[in-house]
Amino acid sequence: MTQTATGTTSSIPQKMRASVLTGVRALSIEQVPTPPTASDEVLVEVSAVGVCGSDTHYYRHGRIGDFVVTSPLILGHELSGRLVAVGDEVPESRIGERVAIEPQKNCRRCRECRAGHYNLCPNMEFYATPPIDGAFAQYCVIRTEFAHRVPDSMSDEAAALLEPLSVAVTTMRKAGVSPGSSILIAGAGPIGIMCAQTARAFGAAEIIVTDLVAERRERALRYGATRVLDPRETDIATAGLDVNAFVDASGSPHAVMSGIKAVRPAGTAVLVGLGSSEMTLPVEHIQNLEISVTGIFRYTDTWPAAIHLVASGLVDLDSLVTGRFDLERADEALESDQDPSSLKSVVYPNGVSNADH
Ligand SMILES: [Zn+2]
Ligand SMILES: [Zn+2]
Repeated sequence: MTQTATGTTSSIPQKMRASVLTGVRALSIEQVPTPPTASDEVLVEVSAVGVCGSDTHYYRHGRIGDFVVTSPLILGHELSGRLVAVGDEVPESRIGERVAIEPQKNCRRCRECRAGHYNLCPNMEFYATPPIDGAFAQYCVIRTEFAHRVPDSMSDEAAALLEPLSVAVTTMRKAGVSPGSSILIAGAGPIGIMCAQTARAFGAAEIIVTDLVAERRERALRYGATRVLDPRETDIATAGLDVNAFVDASGSPHAVMSGIKAVRPAGTAVLVGLGSSEMTLPVEHIQNLEISVTGIFRYTDTWPAAIHLVASGLVDLDSLVTGRFDLERADEALESDQDPSSLKSVVYPNGVSNADH
């Protein structure tokens, strides 16, 4: 690991401001060392960071399953920024680029990396997953190939939200959505809404979204849903939906059970929502109809597609932002999911007033 001497390093401070998680529901603004830029990395001045359900979960519970916060951790993994310095192996011409960050570092050597699905690398270092720091900080480093240049027409906020959009792109690929497909999506939170928009962009003809909250169902209709259903009023399992694919973005065992039963023969179910770690499945339906049931874990090679979807106007991320917060108010951003009208909160580590949106 070599500290770069290239580019504008001289103007980069040795220390930076970061919001550090020090305990359950405890954040403090601290001066921490600016991370050193290795020879194959770039240093990014962070513009916008989307708040994800996983950030909120670490904030409230100090852990997600086997991932436990045991030492101070910087949250945030959905980010955009400006490239301000490069390592020795990276062309200096990259300095100044506006970039969206793919917040992971795989080993490139293991079996999964060599097989082309680097998201499953067992040696993965992922932002804001203990013990790796995230982006609620003024600067961060990332390997050069995971700093994706974005067009000037794209806002900092949209560039940050390419990360959750990548989850939706992965989901549509796994679901096999193609022109004319029908799809059922359970849950109209940020991921459900991005899945609905991405399904439309992939050519789905019928996009049915279920949610318990009327306000969220209304919103889904503005983002690609062709039909919305309240699962308390319609029995999803027996309503004859007969879809090609089901996507669970709710984490609810009931939604998973009934959603899989709504899939037609040889269709696919993709489980995205985080909820119970174990649940009951309709095994007979899965067997007799040869339903493929799968999960997804992050993403491989989705930023080019996600950038295209947003730059071409097929997917709208800007209007999903419902709250903007300075670093000092990161706690409020993390609690904003309590408000049902809130969809996506964004933190600005270098200040909301410096942001372009
Ligand atoms: Zn996320
Ligand atoms: Zn690997």
